Amino acid sequence: MVVKVALVLAAGGMLVAQAPAPRATPPEALRLYVLDCGLLNISRAGVERYHVSTAEVGETRMPVPCFLVAHPKGTLLWDVGVIPDDDVEKAPAGGARYDVNPTAAAVVTRTLRGQLAAIGYRPADITYVAVSHAHKDHTANLNQFARSTWLTPRAEREFMWTPKNERVEPRFYSALEKSKWISLDRDEYDVFGDGAAMIKAAPGHTPGHQVLVLNLRSPGRVMIAGDLYHYPAERSLRRAPPDNEFNVAQSAASRARIEEYLSRTKTAIWIEHEWGAIATLKKSPEYYE
Ligand SMILES: [Zn+2]
Repeated sequence: MVVKVALVLAAGGMLVAQAPAPRATPPEALRLYVLDCGLLNISRAGVERYHVSTAEVGETRMPVPCFLVAHPKGTLLWDVGVIPDDDVEKAPAGGARYDVNPTAAAVVTRTLRGQLAAIGYRPADITYVAVSHAHKDHTANLNQFARSTWLTPRAEREFMWTPKNERVEPRFYSALEKSKWISLDRDEYDVFGDGAAMIKAAPGHTPGHQVLVLNLRSPGRVMIAGDLYHYPAERSLRRAPPDNEFNVAQSAASRARIEEYLSRTKTAIWIEHEWGAIATLKKSPEYYE
């Protein structure tokens, strides 16, 4: 009998073989796993492009989380990291490195597939895959999920294959060109049909930027907000969106609409790149439900 093992980067940077966990069974209620897909070191110029200073921000680093939503009717993987797993497995001690742009340097020490395997999921077990948007730090492992049903606005899909688009890395998702996909061209899309997981349109950062709203028992209603904001200071100080948004006015309108939604529906916001907030979350194999 052949036992497949996953290579896992252990503390100290050593690759160790780890037998996969038994295959997961669908949970009875919605479950959310927060996965570690690396971090970004941001330069001063990189901070200031968000119209905040390094002093206002405090912690300038950004986490890169990935999220697995498990539901009785299937699974949704939301955002898939900044460096492909194959590169992370080949990296020296200290992790894989990749410059997203001249102001943002990524470091990744753990593979997404290793973290999924540890809780009993293989790529073939992922029913739906979606990214908040197609920038390089959210799409690195999409090719592994080409057999999942891809949930994306048509505008984002077109943006991803626009020639000479420097904000994306098409080699991260070349296999998705032939994937089954559902076009999300409404304000809200109910992923599992029961309101437990809703994808909401929030365009501007990219043409089809979107956010995910989950109805959990505890902590309650939560919005995983993609890159609607990067630093919490942008939100608390009500700064204008960055100048390099795909559409600044559309971003500002999305922020206003989302803020109104958050207060009306009593939903908490999780800013994906907010160091302090993500650091306090339970990480897989622990989960929220
Ligand atoms: Zn990002």
